[in-house]
Amino acid sequence: MTGAVGGLSADDDAGDDRDGAWDGDWDVETVAVHAGRPDRDPGAPLNPPIVAASSFHAEGRYEYAREESPTTSALEAAVGALEHGTGVAFASGMAAANAMLDLLPPGAVVVAPSAAYTGVASRLRELETRGSIVLRIVDADDTTAVTAAVDGASLLWLESPTNPLLQVADLPACIAAARAAGARVLVDNTFATPVRQNPLLLGADVVMHSVTKSLAGHSDLVLGALVTADDTLAESLVARRVLMGAAPGALDCYLALRGIRTLALRVDRAEASAMTITDRLREHPSVTRVRYPGFGTIAAIEVAAGADGSAADTADAVCRATRVWTYATSLGGVESLLERRRRWPAEVVAVPEGLVRLSFGIEAAEDLWRDLDRALRVAVC
Ligand SMILES: *Cc1c(COP(=O)(O)O)cnc(C)c1O
Repeated sequence: MTGAVGGLSADDDAGDDRDGAWDGDWDVETVAVHAGRPDRDPGAPLNPPIVAASSFHAEGRYEYAREESPTTSALEAAVGALEHGTGVAFASGMAAANAMLDLLPPGAVVVAPSAAYTGVASRLRELETRGSIVLRIVDADDTTAVTAAVDGASLLWLESPTNPLLQVADLPACIAAARAAGARVLVDNTFATPVRQNPLLLGADVVMHSVTKSLAGHSDLVLGALVTADDTLAESLVARRVLMGAAPGALDCYLALRGIRTLALRVDRAEASAMTITDRLREHPSVTRVRYPGFGTIAAIEVAAGADGSAADTADAVCRATRVWTYATSLGGVESLLERRRRWPAEVVAVPEGLVRLSFGIEAAEDLWRDLDRALRVAVC
């Protein structure tokens, strides 16, 4: 919670000072490698231990793991340094989202994108239906609409690029409008990652991550995080975690931290493949539309309907026909994944039935291309 490196030194203040050095002074590639490590004391380990304990000897920094735990602190230090604030880790991205929503006063006005991440969109609609919030839905890439909607709002919830329509918000303009109107701004930065975008530096109050995705990067855990430069808000968010019981486990935090070490390399590699392959897909006879914002590791394509099927059937057939690409949900891992998003009943209706989301991994770009090209030709004929 405090941003201490690993919480492993008896002298917590020394840890805080050293961690500060990883925030702001160094490039993101360096921060990803170094933040959240134990102090450089002789004989100290380079990596934070996986501390498997629910309870700690009394009267120290740590008491009970639902409140704070050393391996979680190490992950929080890294995520905080990457996003230029104090990191608060949660058991999942949705737990992080709910912690933020739980701070809203009854009847608060929330402005949110028409195509927010499915789970967030469902949760916002739930809260609206039970009368807890008033929801104003806008297109994230329609700055005029966002600016008009923030008047009287408590919270502007942004996602950029959005999942899975890849809409890009004008973050500086939207954030400035919301702040002028007295609304807090949260940016879900899961798609862009801190390697490409730091919303707190653009004036946002809170950044959210599904750490499950690119930060952890290996499709082997579920975790979330919020980062804020506002200390009072950070404390409130830690209190939400404690009272909602949304603390992550030590092993998952360790694995996520290990994944973060290679974040910049993975994003660079996957993004290069995404650029090359989306360019080719734009010329592909089986593809009617390519959505790719020009950066990042996620794209979406729409597939032409086959001779005797709907666009949905054809898109499903493409997903089943690949051998390198894995047909599975989620994104941001080392392995390239694809899926038709509307196979999920909760997916927002603005997402076309035949839309296939592509999460680029780190395999050889030419193998990814050959595999996808063949699957598209087999499925659409
Ligand atoms: C996956 C995802 C979430 C939810 O995170 P979980 O870790 O699955 O709870 C939130 N926002 C975006 C953009 C996501 O892709």
